[in-house]
Amino acid sequence: MRGSMRIDGCTRTCGLIGNPVEHTMSPAIHNTLAQAQGQNLVYVPFCVQPGDVQQAVEGAWALNLLGCNVTVPYKSEVMSFLKELDPLAERIGAVNTLVRTEGGFKGYNTDMPGLLRAFEADGVRPGGGKVLILGAGGVARAVAVMLSDLAPEIIILNRTIERAQKIADEVNAYAERQPVRAMALADWKQLPAGERYLAVQATNVGMFPRMQEAVIEDPDFYQRIHTGYDLIFNPARTRFMQMTEEAGGRAYNGLKMLLYQGIIAYELWTGAVVTGELEERAYAAMKHAMKLEE
Ligand code: NAP
Repeated sequence: MRGSMRIDGCTRTCGLIGNPVEHTMSPAIHNTLAQAQGQNLVYVPFCVQPGDVQQAVEGAWALNLLGCNVTVPYKSEVMSFLKELDPLAERIGAVNTLVRTEGGFKGYNTDMPGLLRAFEADGVRPGGGKVLILGAGGVARAVAVMLSDLAPEIIILNRTIERAQKIADEVNAYAERQPVRAMALADWKQLPAGERYLAVQATNVGMFPRMQEAVIEDPDFYQRIHTGYDLIFNPARTRFMQMTEEAGGRAYNGLKMLLYQGIIAYELWTGAVVTGELEERAYAAMKHAMKLEE
């Protein structure tokens, strides 16, 4: 934090509700943006104990907080304690941002709009062709919901096919078309040969410290991918990305999704628009906080 930071009687506070919160990059993003824009705003982490989420939201309201982020494990639980939900957050079933409105907080999901903005920044067009989603956890589900309006076809590949099928059924029930289908991870060879996919890697496989692993180890799989988008951000270059590139595809990590979910939350709280050089500064601060220098 630079010495120029000002805290006075008019300073507004935003914070992060989660547990654990020690490794969060959000203070680096938000405090950098606020300082660069001269916003009288500070952002701090709040470690909330299981069972205390309602009290935390009510306390944040009573203390006049401008907004909060919400992270693991409270993104679904927090939804019960809000005045209003943004329709996308409701459909995804997860809230990561609370915005102060008259009479209570409104809940948003900025993770998925953040991913869309990251796609855009990286020149990835999610509506341009068929998509594979690897994994069927909370994030994979959110990706399927968001892309169901954009991509012509989505295949969810998961170790436990039942979880992938459940997401496909839920998302298809909402969508006008039936764009999503489930496939067991072990059956990936059934993907039509000659087809090329955008693959969104939404499993935990390859995360620090198990960096030598990829969810599919067979190099042939990567021949089917034109773009590999790994949502993991630590390490910055995963084995999945490496294998995608070795097969001739383009590969990206989850750092920009992390950046943009923060930027969109900040824009919702302040009404500011963050572009260009300011984005770069927030990105650099985030990577510096992660000790990821480029
Ligand atoms: P989750 O709910 O725990 O789901 C994990 C998924 O990984 C499940 O589908 C699980 O399959 C699969 N998996 C785990 N170990 C596996 C293995 N050995 N082989 C095959 N599949 C395996 O996790 P999540 O909350 O959705 O998060 C998923 C990823 O998103 C994480 O890597 C996280 O880093 C990333 N993420 C990124 C951002 C960002 O801003 N960039 C934000 C949030 C999360 P089963 O169903 O078979 O167990």
